[in-house]
Amino acid sequence: MTISERVNSIGESITLAITSNAKKMKALGEDVIVMASGEPDFDTPEHIKEAAVKAIYSGFTKYTAAAGTEELRNAVAGKLKRDSGLDYSLKEIIVTAGGKQALFNAFLSILNDGDEVIVFRPYWVSYIEQIKLAGGKPVLADLSSCIQNPDNFEKYFSHKTKAVVFNSPSNPSGEIIPENAFRLFSHICAEKRVYIISDEVYEKFIYDGTYSVSPASFSEQAKSITIIINAFSKTYSMTGWRVGFAAGPESVIKAMSAIQGHQTSNACSIAQKAALAALESSQDCVTKMVEAFKARRDYMLERLSRVPGVVCGKPQGAFYLFPKVSALYSDRITDSLDFCGKLLEEEKLAVIPGVGFGMDSHIRFTYSASMEDIEKGMDRFERFCNKYSNSK
Ligand code: GLU
Repeated sequence: MTISERVNSIGESITLAITSNAKKMKALGEDVIVMASGEPDFDTPEHIKEAAVKAIYSGFTKYTAAAGTEELRNAVAGKLKRDSGLDYSLKEIIVTAGGKQALFNAFLSILNDGDEVIVFRPYWVSYIEQIKLAGGKPVLADLSSCIQNPDNFEKYFSHKTKAVVFNSPSNPSGEIIPENAFRLFSHICAEKRVYIISDEVYEKFIYDGTYSVSPASFSEQAKSITIIINAFSKTYSMTGWRVGFAAGPESVIKAMSAIQGHQTSNACSIAQKAALAALESSQDCVTKMVEAFKARRDYMLERLSRVPGVVCGKPQGAFYLFPKVSALYSDRITDSLDFCGKLLEEEKLAVIPGVGFGMDSHIRFTYSASMEDIEKGMDRFERFCNKYSNSK
């Protein structure tokens, strides 16, 4: 009896695995600082929780339409109009069990076996595995060289290219694709009739007066090939509720709904009511969270700048830092997995190895942890790096 080749070819989610391991150590009484999984440490806002409680007591506990309730899809349409000036009908929107399901069902809907999907490195861990599960082939691309010269972007296309994944702001680098380059990329995709999968999960987490745009807003042509992926998880600190959404061409959304109908039926009815409250109420909770993240980012950047052998750019979005640490590699620390393993073992600090994002020279911190934990975490990190840089 064997496991299918398709599933055998994928690994577990490194972000979830490391976080769960670190949380287990913590539960056993170990003094572990977890700066691993991208999960806001803030509680879900009260008014969102109240909407869920109300849903339970009013008996809103049955199946909904596979694509989500009309009221929530209407609210999503309102959000897309408000934030990005985009018009979507209800048939062009689907509510999913988190951004991950939206993304996965998008890949399943558009990929045939052997179709290629261009993904920029560093990439979020699940893109690669989801593409492979859907029968596709990830083609890794270098974003900076494409931004410098769009001819480089064109080089990654072949007659098998079916889609390009954009994630701006990016997990793990926090990088925001400059609007002019993004516009050019989407123009190239439109000309080649290749789908754009735009993962906009971190759109609200932006700093220093920068802004992020959806490629669907560049032109009608760009909109016609773009599948927007978004979620409530990060924006409203609702990771466990599992609600996300996608907006895109009616044919794709119809296919995604059909898959979902056979797969999870619908996103949790109660969580959909909570998500509705999130969209329809004041957005102050988001603003407060973003302000706190900015202060944490600045603090961490300052601390990291003083650590020998560590180089970290200033990200303008998301809530991650992705420093290069390979200057500290030696026969004592061989790669990012080893680095993070030893950091956890010796200093009880959990972060994610860059190899999970396709860049073994780096590691990823999240600053979705309390300031107190961040301060302690930075002390431990500095001590660890000093130890290994002196031992070389
Ligand atoms: N997206 C978050 C992260 O990258 C949560 C974990 C996951 O879904 O991978 O840490």
